[in-house]
Amino acid sequence: MDFELTAEERALAETVKEFVDNRVEPRMVEIEATNQIPDEIFAEASALGLFGISIPEDYGGSGLSRFSRTLVHQMLGRSGFGFAGAIASHTGIGSDGLVSIGTEEQKRRYLPRMATGELRAAFAITEPEAGSDAGGIRTKARKQGDRYYLNGVKRFISGGARAGLITVVARTNSEQKPKELSVFLVEPSFPGFRIGAVYDTMGTRGQPIAELVFEDCEVPEENRLGEEGKGWIAAMKILNDARPLVAGRCVGACERLIEISTDYAKNRKQFGQAIGEFQAIQFMLADMATRTEGARWLTYHAATLADQGRAKPEIISMAKLFASEALAFVADSAIQIQGGSGYVSGNPVGRFFRDARVTRIYEGTSEIQRLIIGRALLRR
Ligand SMILES: Cc1cc2nc3c(=O)[nH]c(=O)nc-3n(C[C@H](O)[C@H](O)[C@H](O)COP(=O)(O)OP(=O)(O)OC[C@H]3O[C@@H](n4cnc5c(N)ncnc54)[C@H](O)[C@@H]3O)c2cc1C
Repeated sequence: MDFELTAEERALAETVKEFVDNRVEPRMVEIEATNQIPDEIFAEASALGLFGISIPEDYGGSGLSRFSRTLVHQMLGRSGFGFAGAIASHTGIGSDGLVSIGTEEQKRRYLPRMATGELRAAFAITEPEAGSDAGGIRTKARKQGDRYYLNGVKRFISGGARAGLITVVARTNSEQKPKELSVFLVEPSFPGFRIGAVYDTMGTRGQPIAELVFEDCEVPEENRLGEEGKGWIAAMKILNDARPLVAGRCVGACERLIEISTDYAKNRKQFGQAIGEFQAIQFMLADMATRTEGARWLTYHAATLADQGRAKPEIISMAKLFASEALAFVADSAIQIQGGSGYVSGNPVGRFFRDARVTRIYEGTSEIQRLIIGRALLRR
């Protein structure tokens, strides 16, 4: 497999990189403090087409390939996971279900506004009693006439408090079919929907996570996404498709940290010389770069297989696992290279360190990725 970028892919990556480095990164201290992304940053992201990367051209997006989307996410990761997360939950888990299994009418109703970011999307599967064990969700959808009534609580939903459309996974089992899940497109204006707690988090600032409460929440039948009872397969596909994007963001964050660390190592002097002259620092940089390069190749491999219609869940899990663990190592090393300065608040390496932590938790913890890989090996 050859991962040489085409001229078009290079131009795409460069455009997003410039935006992230020059427009987003300088605002990160403010975003960290307020836990809010300024509207003008979102407006610029919209003008750049970032909200539409996963949405087909027919509905106003750019319908990028999996590989190109991964590249975009890689560049978004250069500012950490706050702003990147806001774009990611919209262009990944928030919209993928609608794009892949929505009806024509559903797509026409929502996608054009999603392509511009006017309508923000989120995805809700996690519940207080069901995280890794997603099959154990309790939110129930009861059908009555041409309506479903949802009851339950979702939590830790990225962008849930600001979303205009939420892909919600709920149980539609009957006594005959006890394990059936289905997926619904829920608008926050639907009767019986409300936002519960909004959590403060140690990282990914600017993209708060929320609790969503459904109390006899009334959802028209036309807002069921896909067939009733096929929700488990749909939800797993949504998560699986999003994992190379998480891995891409990790790679971008690693690359940015290596840039910061090499600059620092060239300029910081101790014992009369730049610390980069010390082999110990060179070894740290070498390990950071080696893991990053490994993560990049695995991530590109996973995305390319998906574009070729040969997506392999275990390769996708390897990419997510390896890239997130590479980032943990790289962020930790970046602090070590800066010594005490790396530990001072406001230094971007601290932000990356805190942001990095979540990538081993969300969209399937590292343990769950290992389970997927292990089971695939045993099936061979
Ligand atoms: C910042 C952030 C954003 C998020 N965004 C979203 C979102 O947009 N939508 C959404 O639906 N969810 C979202 N989540 C939820 C996230 O996906 C879950 O937190 C994650 O799946 C883990 O679930 P849990 O927190 O309940 O942990 P648990 O499942 O309770 O896991 C606790 C620990 O037990 C381990 N464990 C569990 N089961 C096994 C097993 N079988 N084998 C080995 N180890 C196991 C886990 O790996 C973990 O270490 C988000 C979470 C965070 C922190």
